[in-house]
Amino acid sequence: MGVIGGVHGVLTGLLELVFPATCVCCGRAPVAWCRRCRPGPEQRWRAGLDSVPVCAATEYRGTVRTALIAYKERGVRALLPDLAEYLRFAVLAHGQPHPLLVPVPSRRVAARRRGGDHVHGLARLVAAGIGYECATVLRLCGPVADSAGLSSAQRTANLSHRMDAQRPRAGPHTPPVIVVDDIVTTGATVREAVRALRMAGWPVVGAAVVADTRRRFPQQSSG
Ligand SMILES: [Zn+2]
Repeated sequence: MGVIGGVHGVLTGLLELVFPATCVCCGRAPVAWCRRCRPGPEQRWRAGLDSVPVCAATEYRGTVRTALIAYKERGVRALLPDLAEYLRFAVLAHGQPHPLLVPVPSRRVAARRRGGDHVHGLARLVAAGIGYECATVLRLCGPVADSAGLSSAQRTANLSHRMDAQRPRAGPHTPPVIVVDDIVTTGATVREAVRALRMAGWPVVGAAVVADTRRRFPQQSSG
């Protein structure tokens, strides 16, 4: 392959990341994520994460998992609007008038590899669509290992006191905060974000995520 062919190959690859030729799930429909492969959103609440209600808009499985991995790990930007639609649904489920959306921070290395902070991208799009504010007031303040493959206890240890938050601006009104993330697994990330935000003086009222890894109706035999 000559230089021209190589460049052409790279360009085609880049274009397919931004505008996939077909649905990332079925590979047939001529859109990034077709309606048949996209489950309708539903409110999936988790209570008891430091008294903050967490709402997910869908379960992290099947085509949702495929699409989230394609967006996060392969940088398929064309999936952003559809994923943001789920997040918007979960944010609105809280019924808060004009909350501030605060995305959880990504590890810097991970964000670089993915070509930007994917949770921030989702939060920004949701906020812009419904006229809310979005602010990156949380940051990681210590080394955090990739959480994939860690147990619940390991995730908590990995994340405990690893975030800090900017203080709210002085003034008569501090907006209620909704923490946003892509996936809730053990809840360790949300818990740490809530802890750091409250320490800094933010009134956190809830969390909203695209998908929850828990099954809605756990099978009896699964223990
Ligand atoms: Zn499809």
